[in-house]
Formats: sequence, C-alpha cells, structure tokens
Amino acid sequence: MSDEILVVEDDDSIRRLLRISLKTEGYRVSEAKSATVALSLFDANAPSLVLLDLGLPDCDGMEVLSHIRECGSTPVIVVTARTQDDQKVSALDAGADDYVVKPFSMAELFARIRVALRHRAHILRSNDETHVYSIGGLTIDNDTRTVSLDGEPVHLTPYEYGMLMVMVRYRGKALTHRFIQREVWGHDASDGYRTLRVIMASLRRKLGDRPANPRFIATEVGVGYRFIGE
Ligand code: CA
Repeated sequence: MSDEILVVEDDDSIRRLLRISLKTEGYRVSEAKSATVALSLFDANAPSLVLLDLGLPDCDGMEVLSHIRECGSTPVIVVTARTQDDQKVSALDAGADDYVVKPFSMAELFARIRVALRHRAHILRSNDETHVYSIGGLTIDNDTRTVSLDGEPVHLTPYEYGMLMVMVRYRGKALTHRFIQREVWGHDASDGYRTLRVIMASLRRKLGDRPANPRFIATEVGVGYRFIGE
C-alpha cells in the first residue's frame, strides 16, 4: 500500500493544492486544519510522514511536533513562513526531519518527502553501517577511514572525517549547527559554533566545494548545512 501523508495546514487553498499534488504522486492523504485534529488523525492512522504547518489556529505546530516525537520517529517536514528563521532551527532541533519555506515548489517538496521516507525506510530496515559510500565522485571507505575524490586521495583530519560522515549519513536533510556538533563531539561545545565553521570550511575546501556553487555540502542560510551529493 502507498505511503499515507498527514497534511496539517489551516489554509484551505494550500491544503487543497497539497492534497491534489500528493495524490497525483501516488500518496494517500489525510488532512487536518488544526492541531487537535492533527493529533487525533496521527494517533488513529499512523501516517508514514507528516507535513506540518507551524502556524495553526488552536495551538503552535511545535506542540504537534513534540507529541509526534514522543510517539516515535515518523518523519515530519515543517512548513514555515520565510521570515521565521529561528522557527526552522527550533523545529529541526526539536526533531523535525526537514523544512520547506512558503512559497515552496512542489518539486522541492516532493524531493524532501522522498529523502525523509528513504531515511525512515533505512532506519526501519536495519542498523547496519554501510562500509563504502560512493557519491558523485566521492568515495568513503568506512573501514579504512579513507576518502577519495575523483580517484585522488583526500586527507582529512579526524574531525573533518567525522563531520563528513555525519553529513553523508543524513544526506539530503538540512542539519542544524547544534545537531552536527552533537553528532561529531557528542555534546554542545562552548565555542562549538566557531570551531564547526572552521572545520566545515576546511572540509569543503578539500572536497573542492565552492560555497557559491557547491557540489557536496551546501549552506542552509540561518540553519546549518545540507549534503546535496546524490
Ligand atoms: Ca497556517
């Protein structure tokens, strides 16, 4: 059976557009205009993914997110307004899988949905660690901890390597600075943000990534980074 997506959105025209587009893509769709309805549909239907508008009439969408996270790892993509950068970061740090900013393109949204569902399938399938990643000219051997780019070896420091592995493991998803820090260091370092930026800049330089036109790691303005290599 196809994946069911719960669309939580109080704007009737956006919700209708989402319903039609998602159904055309082959998803099943359930809809909620409020947090209350969203929570009861989530509990009743156990959807594969939730598309969550954060500005809801009855309560903040963040409360819906926190309920979903208490129940498990169902992917949540939050929909935010362009002006609310802080909201994106808080939602990601509270366990949202990704975000789109209004007005978003359907192509962009579908890509985000596919990534989130693929990660979920991966988590459900196993906890086996892939040993060799090969992504767009980049090869990472997790046994020997060696990296090559277009056939040439790339020498990374342990932190650069750790950061690259985090980015690759969550490829396609927006990762906040805080998330990356915790994954690499296991805690929030006090000057972690600056250290992270320095290491990331060095890693991207070694990967030949130009910030304006990245091949592997893109900056998510106001949020963090996203691995874009396929
Ligand atoms: Ca709204």
